[in-house]
Amino acid sequence: MLRWRRPTLPDELLIDGRRVPVLATRRAGARTVRLKANAISGCIELSLPPRGGEDAAVTLLKSHHGWLAARVAGWPRPMPFAPGASITVDGQPVLIDWQAGHPRTPRLAAGRLQLGGPLESLPGRIERWLKARARADLAEQTLRLAAVVGRPVARVAIADPSSRWGSCAGWNRPEGARIGYSWRLILAPTWVRTSIVAHEVAHLVHPNHSPAFHALNRQLDPRASEARRWLARHGAALHWVGREG
Ligand SMILES: [Zn+2]
Repeated sequence: MLRWRRPTLPDELLIDGRRVPVLATRRAGARTVRLKANAISGCIELSLPPRGGEDAAVTLLKSHHGWLAARVAGWPRPMPFAPGASITVDGQPVLIDWQAGHPRTPRLAAGRLQLGGPLESLPGRIERWLKARARADLAEQTLRLAAVVGRPVARVAIADPSSRWGSCAGWNRPEGARIGYSWRLILAPTWVRTSIVAHEVAHLVHPNHSPAFHALNRQLDPRASEARRWLARHGAALHWVGREG
């Protein structure tokens, strides 16, 4: 996949006072220009054929301005890591309570994330704290549930993927599978996070989405479909946590 910007295509669009980046990608199999308003990345995405298409892309941006504006208006709002701002942890609102006298390491108490230290490093410290909490929680839950189905897990890792909440690789390796999660699940309600864990652990037994997989998944987590609905509705907003604009 090659990515570049042609001079004829804008780098960004101003939509209702919001600067929205435009990302153009050329795709080998593409025959026409396609337009997408990506609520997760916060970008307007254009996919173009291997050659040409710039004029069609510009026309498409103009003719779909109203459509784009409606989509962008429905995007989540950025929730930056900043003093006085609010984020969610385990689905509960948490106020970022920065005071010079607080310790540098964040501490969660009574709906407040207390921390001091330099303001420049505050976003990074909050993100590291959330990731550490996510890793510990997800690893603990995964190993506990993997023991229930009697399958080994070699590694539980966290990352920041845009298109999936969890992944399971090497389900049949004797040394155990590698399970990965989005750290952003720590922002979601606990039962939603547990549901993703149950989904990945069910893949330790069934590396597919067969009826047998769903039966085991439901057995491990009766709220599986409810969690899927929650993520379909609120998942995009989790990707706007820690974002400035
Ligand atoms: Zn799956």
